[in-house]
Amino acid sequence: MKVYIIGIGLIGGSMALDIKTHYAEAVIFGIDANENHLNQALKLGIIDKKAQMEDLNKADLVIVSVPVDIALVLLPVVLDVIEENALVLDVGSTKLPVCEVISTHCKRRNFLATHPIAGTEFSGPSAAIKGLFQGKTNIICEVEKTTFKLQERAMELFQRLEMRIRYMDPKSHDKHIAYVSHLSHISSFMLGKTVVEKEKDERDIFDMAGSGFESTVRLAKSSPAMWTPIFKQNKKHVIKSLEEYIANLTQFKTLLEREDYDQIFNEMANTNRIKEILNGKK
Ligand code: NAP
Repeated sequence: MKVYIIGIGLIGGSMALDIKTHYAEAVIFGIDANENHLNQALKLGIIDKKAQMEDLNKADLVIVSVPVDIALVLLPVVLDVIEENALVLDVGSTKLPVCEVISTHCKRRNFLATHPIAGTEFSGPSAAIKGLFQGKTNIICEVEKTTFKLQERAMELFQRLEMRIRYMDPKSHDKHIAYVSHLSHISSFMLGKTVVEKEKDERDIFDMAGSGFESTVRLAKSSPAMWTPIFKQNKKHVIKSLEEYIANLTQFKTLLEREDYDQIFNEMANTNRIKEILNGKK
């Protein structure tokens, strides 16, 4: 099986490692705008060979794992080049723009829109992790628009990677993901900014930072090159989620100003049910 991964970073690289584990016959080709990343991926054994876009006509499987704005430009080109039996997956964090951009392409049925809910705050091939997708959810959009035979090939891959599948329409995906992923990243970035701006003497931050601060601010280490286009593409839902979040922050501030500690207690006690919600997911 000839697998071409475009964007050999955290997600593309992790996919490559797992495909190598589960498909002994797979040969992994890497395509990336960053020559250093390609060389690193070769050295780390993530890819077997470097390749170019023109080579995609030899592919059985193409995984597009670049920032979401770049994916909109590359995907139509990928579909132009591939042969009729090739499967093309994207793994982008937004789904409506990508589904729209290829909606009328004559090879639309070769494409499957996916979003693996797995990752870390790190980027590039050195961040790739074996087993990253095990037990994680993969959201699949517009499955009915992909040829049945290629759907089956994709499901076989996700089964071998031990992923859980959820089907969703792209609009619902983008609306829901704004709350659980995009808002969390903004919240972490702005918490980091607030503390960094206030504590000019950085040593104080490091001396006093407990595990609570560290875990809450973890996502602020994420790549701006990846996140700016996500916020741009999902602007409408991100703004709505921010409005609701800001209203909650403002309400908390008001309660504190009013010294309404009973209500502050209740707010936190009600929110504690997040423990059961997240435990139920495991
Ligand atoms: P990453 O580690 O930064 O990898 C992306 C790779 O694509 C980098 O090597 C980047 O090079 C390269 N690239 C940029 N422009 C390119 C182009 N025009 N042609 C070819 N390669 C190009 O990013 P990632 O975290 O793997 O994210 C990849 C995709 O997965 C994104 O669509 C993201 O939304 C999605 N995703 C991410 C996560 C997560 O937690 N990180 C989770 C689920 C889905 P440079 O670094 O030089 O730009």
